[in-house]
Amino acid sequence: MIKPIIIIGSGLAAYTLIREYRKINAEHPITLVTQEAGDFYSKPMLSTAIASQKSAEQLVTSSAAKMAEQLNLVIHTHATVKQIDPAHQKISVALKDGQLVDIGYSQLVLTLGADQIRVPIDGDASEAILSVNDLYEYAEFRKRLDGKKKVVILGAGLIGCEFANDLAVGGYQVELVDLADQALSRLLPKLIAQALEQKLSDLNVIWHLGTSIQSVSHDGDQLQVMLTNGQIIHADLVLSALGLVPRIQLAKEAGILVHRGIVVNRQLETSIQNIYSLGDCAEVEGQVLPYVMPIMQAARTLAMVLARQDASLVYPAMPVMIKTPALPLIVSPPPIGSSGSWSINELENGMEGLFHNDQSELIGFALAGSATSQRATLTKLLPPILGAT
Ligand SMILES: Cc1cc2nc3c(=O)[nH]c(=O)nc-3n(C[C@H](O)[C@H](O)[C@H](O)COP(=O)(O)OP(=O)(O)OC[C@H]3O[C@@H](n4cnc5c(N)ncnc54)[C@H](O)[C@@H]3O)c2cc1C
Repeated sequence: MIKPIIIIGSGLAAYTLIREYRKINAEHPITLVTQEAGDFYSKPMLSTAIASQKSAEQLVTSSAAKMAEQLNLVIHTHATVKQIDPAHQKISVALKDGQLVDIGYSQLVLTLGADQIRVPIDGDASEAILSVNDLYEYAEFRKRLDGKKKVVILGAGLIGCEFANDLAVGGYQVELVDLADQALSRLLPKLIAQALEQKLSDLNVIWHLGTSIQSVSHDGDQLQVMLTNGQIIHADLVLSALGLVPRIQLAKEAGILVHRGIVVNRQLETSIQNIYSLGDCAEVEGQVLPYVMPIMQAARTLAMVLARQDASLVYPAMPVMIKTPALPLIVSPPPIGSSGSWSINELENGMEGLFHNDQSELIGFALAGSATSQRATLTKLLPPILGAT
């Protein structure tokens, strides 16, 4: 019997890869194992769906059963992979009913995603701190929001700012807390960040920059949130949005090389033969890029590799849209640690931030409002993130 390709996970990385692979090979058996229900949804929608009152079910665009039928898959849902045994090319899976089974693979793909970063916070209500990184957490967040008014968000990065905008439009009072002295400190130059802060302030978002949350405690029906600067906020809910950390534990326990993410080469192969990885859990040449566009690129390459075709991953410049309708933003940040400087051009209803290195080459940009129309033109001028080898 032919052993299947096994894919662990049912996020964008898993399903995009399978779609690409099925364009090349419609028949080879594929088994997908996922802790979740396996339904297909677009994760970026999670931070823009509260204002429009979408339920978790409404975000699902295709059920697991439909995906299995369309893509000719065997899917094990609510099943957790406990162990990978590379020597015998098999995985141990705890199935929905509690049974532990071994499944053999010809090739194994890890699309395990990433966890939200959580920092220790004092107080007797730390269990009340939520994060939203999948459909279940979204459903829980919506349930807890019911009848409530005020949300404190910890972290003014991409996810924190998107939720702040969406919740404010949905009629909630939002207070945003971040240790940095500006919004989106890893992605935006100060002047454009200030423009975003102003636009969100216009929606009554209150900013607490240069501080963090010390403790969260119960206070009657509400929560008392104490900041490290001593200020106290009363709120109904606290949402933690501090960024992501790749899920590497399963790979590490199997002896696969991990660093910040699961280390893969340009063929998306890990340090162990026939085991591959892509998506938020993977690290390619030191780059962990937890966004949709890198998944698309990697999925196309890996589909070819799994089909035994020659392919090597290339990452062009891949700008990210930040879904803050109060001030639409598109960013392509310079590589971390680049030396150079930002120049900002003020346009009518927009701002164009260009980052040039010391050789005067354009290596990053941040576009706000009307300047977002420059996306395609400027992207062509940027160097690739990973060029052809
Ligand atoms: C709120 C939000 C907004 C975002 N907005 C944008 C955006 O605007 N633009 C953009 O480019 N990106 C955005 N992103 C990032 C983007 O959504 C992610 O990069 C992408 O969805 C990651 O897909 P993935 O398949 O790698 O991981 P995931 O979707 O996290 O999938 C991981 C899968 O692995 C499974 N799994 C893990 N361990 C096991 C195990 N041991 N056994 C079985 N199953 C396991 C999980 O159950 C899950 O199914 C956003 C992310 C969030 C959270």
